Amino acid sequence: MRLTHPERVLYPGDGVTKAELAAWFDAVAGTLLPQLAGRPLSVLRFAGDRAPFFQRHIPGARGVATCDTRADLAALAQLGVVELHTAGTKRGFVACADRLTFDLDPGAGLPWARLRAAACAVRDFLADLGLVSFAKSTGGSGLHVVVPLTVPRPRWVRVLDFSRAVSQHFARAAPDDYTARPGATARQGKVFIDYLRNARGASAVAAFSPRWRPGVPVAVPLSWREVESSDVLPRYTLRALDAAAASERERQWSGYDDVRQSLSTSITARVSGRTPRQR
Ligand code: ATP
Ligand code: MN
Repeated sequence: MRLTHPERVLYPGDGVTKAELAAWFDAVAGTLLPQLAGRPLSVLRFAGDRAPFFQRHIPGARGVATCDTRADLAALAQLGVVELHTAGTKRGFVACADRLTFDLDPGAGLPWARLRAAACAVRDFLADLGLVSFAKSTGGSGLHVVVPLTVPRPRWVRVLDFSRAVSQHFARAAPDDYTARPGATARQGKVFIDYLRNARGASAVAAFSPRWRPGVPVAVPLSWREVESSDVLPRYTLRALDAAAASERERQWSGYDDVRQSLSTSITARVSGRTPRQR
């Protein structure tokens, strides 16, 4: 596909052009496409003049509701797509979820050690329920805890109920550390565990998506070992993440595709507190 205005700057602070973005998409396509394929896609687009805008349905581009091929990636670059966000489901079973994303948002200025502890606590809580999870940097200020779900895939109501119950559990058990309420004030000095990313139609930034933020950070898979041992919020940027570095990042989620787990009744009942917790 031919790029029009390849010289157009899509990330103004850093001078990353449409041509550079298209080349980067192509270079990391081997790791990026598996994160996007089949998933309903929302995007942030930048036209070069006004502020970027978030778009849930992408016009033109022959209905690229999902991004499945290198040609689709090129079409997205051509449209000035600067961030890629996906739903926790795939074409063919959109009434059900195949992943949960707990979006951990720290209050302004919260030390990394507190965010790290929160992410590990969510991981441990889920592990106690028998659910394996994976960590992802967002390229922003927070972290995502990602939970793969396989058959029988839960419907969205169940997913949202569970997700809300987990967030509220933390807010009740440690109100000084967590909040289940959105808004900058509520999360001051705390971590907001945003469960609303797990509503039908919601999205979360895809692993290997660039962010339209200073330095052009990229959301990437992190291993739990890295999260635990890191003294700072791990940060990767588009210009530093070549194909080899992207593959190395992809390996941090090795085992993701082998996970077999779902939101069984025994799991959801334990969290919502409808039955006494059994060990
Ligand atoms: P951070 O770690 O900094 O919180 P993040 O990716 O979790 O990064 P945001 O960039 O604040 O958080 O939010 C991204 C998500 O919010 C998207 O996946 C999308 O669901 C939603 N979103 C973002 N911008 C818009 C918008 N303009 N309109 C509607 N939804 C949006
Ligand atoms: Mn967030």
